Amino acid sequence: MIDTHCHLTYKGLKENCQQILEDARKEMKAIITCGFPEDADDALALSEQYPGFVYVSLGIHPTDVIEMSDDDIEKYSKFIERNKRKIIAIGEIGLDYHWITDEKQKQRTKEIFLFFLNLAKELDKPIILHSRKAEEDVLKLVIQEDVKIATFHSYTGNITLARKIIEEGFFISLNTNLPNSKNAKKIAKALPLEQLLTETDAPFLSPYPGKVNVPQNVKLVIENIAKLRQMQIEEVKEAILENCESFFNTKFS
Ligand SMILES: [Zn+2]
Repeated sequence: MIDTHCHLTYKGLKENCQQILEDARKEMKAIITCGFPEDADDALALSEQYPGFVYVSLGIHPTDVIEMSDDDIEKYSKFIERNKRKIIAIGEIGLDYHWITDEKQKQRTKEIFLFFLNLAKELDKPIILHSRKAEEDVLKLVIQEDVKIATFHSYTGNITLARKIIEEGFFISLNTNLPNSKNAKKIAKALPLEQLLTETDAPFLSPYPGKVNVPQNVKLVIENIAKLRQMQIEEVKEAILENCESFFNTKFS
């Protein structure tokens, strides 16, 4: 099992990270943790501590973009370039129209999104996309920029757009909220398994009220996909592992 998207160095998880990773190791093959400007160093240090198990993707959340100057962005992108061999992907990057509604701010997040899309292309890395309430615009931009490999992380948009995403050759990543999301359930059931990934987005989106989410909970996503498609859990596990290996161009087993 692989968690393709969580935040191990974010508050909520970082405090108990070592214990969580020791437990996770027993049943998981790899964890992709997403770092932001403020915890990128910590994320890289963690992957050095757990080589071949913890992998890092570096990105910037759209809601953080509006707090950053051009200079900050430049410095961060240089940091990513310097560390390109230590990272497996770029992301999450994208747009968020749930939190960002001001037109000027939307414009700013679009510019920075385009900047990082092109950085990912230059560095030849797969891209993890954030697209909350902005799925159409994110898809439009990745097509426009001729992006080859990207996943819509924690996708909650509708099935029609999801079909389009799949037809364009992109991946959709389903999270631990799957049992509660009508859209996600339709996608898990009907869209090609070869283009689905699984994630927790931990410490967020805990399936257990009052408890912090952990990477191991990705098994709930696998179990739900298996149930919805009437497949064996092991079969889905294998298939998703193969998808992860092809998406990240890395052997995890
Ligand atoms: Zn996330």
